[in-house]
Amino acid sequence: MIRAYRGDIVYSADKDELRVFDDSYIIVKAGKVLEITKKLPQEYKNLEIIDHSGKMIIPAFSDMHLHASQYYQRGVGMDRLLLDWLNDYTFPQESRFEDMGYAERAYDLFTEDLINHGTLHASIFTTIHYEASDYLFNLLERKGLYAYVGKLNMNQNCPPSLRENTKDSILDTERFILEHQGGKTVSPIITPRFAISCTEELIQGLGSLVKRYKVPVQTHLCESEEEMRTVSTLFPEYSYDSEIYLKYGLIGNSLSLMAHCIYLDEKDIKVLNSHGGVAVHCPDSNINVTAGLMPSASLADTGMNLTLGSDIGGGHDIPIYRAVARAVQVSKIRVQLGLDQRKLSLTEAFYFATRAGGECFGEMGAFDQGYHFNALVIDDERFRGLEIGISDRLERFCYIGDDRNIIARYVDGKLLD
Ligand SMILES: [Zn+2]
Repeated sequence: MIRAYRGDIVYSADKDELRVFDDSYIIVKAGKVLEITKKLPQEYKNLEIIDHSGKMIIPAFSDMHLHASQYYQRGVGMDRLLLDWLNDYTFPQESRFEDMGYAERAYDLFTEDLINHGTLHASIFTTIHYEASDYLFNLLERKGLYAYVGKLNMNQNCPPSLRENTKDSILDTERFILEHQGGKTVSPIITPRFAISCTEELIQGLGSLVKRYKVPVQTHLCESEEEMRTVSTLFPEYSYDSEIYLKYGLIGNSLSLMAHCIYLDEKDIKVLNSHGGVAVHCPDSNINVTAGLMPSASLADTGMNLTLGSDIGGGHDIPIYRAVARAVQVSKIRVQLGLDQRKLSLTEAFYFATRAGGECFGEMGAFDQGYHFNALVIDDERFRGLEIGISDRLERFCYIGDDRNIIARYVDGKLLD
């Protein structure tokens, strides 16, 4: 099946370049991009044309770090520091996912809102609960989203209701991998919450699973100074925070998504860059729990792979286009404080949110030939009045748009309901 989608097309060529095609056609065959053309070639003149003239066609967004189980609690407890916020709000909330009725309601709402806001690729934390995690996995697969879903591992420094037995935690994770490997669009991901909540024995066991099954990994790294002080007390023999993950193979064997990365040591930067680690910048969350301001522009200049995350519910807002704007704002504050030499451009932040995130799942997040046609159609008619070009319209959507502007969502060329 070949179709042509007409509109104002824009996507990232790389982190410093937007490709913009005014009133053009994307030709899509079997869900993948064949070419972008200003005029339809003769051979395509009888094609079905999906006409989005005057609207922007952009790649789907990728949220590379968020907690589906915290969706209900977003915007609550925002006066707490990270560890108090976890103890006072998050752990009691996560304990409720033993109740499948509760889990289903929460995950249904979460998934609906994720799709509404155009996040069609996501790397998601659940809780320690197998059945609830299985439910979310199957729901996302049924909806056709591309996602990684990680059943959480946690065996210390948490309430008894959330504390796993080490052996069971590893066995349950292996079962989750075996029962979910080979999913069409959703895959399992190893998910130790953070070093504070995992013993060395657990991290070692999870590393063995990474090596055996070549599954990706997601966790939190260098998020707040308080967290890092606790990690160095718990693991005094390690000199930098990513060392324990490197030692046991959670970095270097597959995709490693490291959320926050605000206070990376020189050695951490070297480890991540030499093993293709991906730092996930979550600006809203970092501000809300007073974790800090990520040095995103400086890290990008070291060659680090950066992506964006909403970090629901440390972050209060699920739209990743808003995280694009926030990442730029935070980078400006760092420059004003003399902490960084330069700010992020909108082009860079949009790249993190689309192409850089999408490519963690395969050829997604852009419209190069062969890439999956995972796309959003943005109707910004109600903002008109100013004569501006497509890249300015894209910036405006990131700052002031919302789900009302997203009038169609495609995955592999298929329109989502
Ligand atoms: Zn998080």
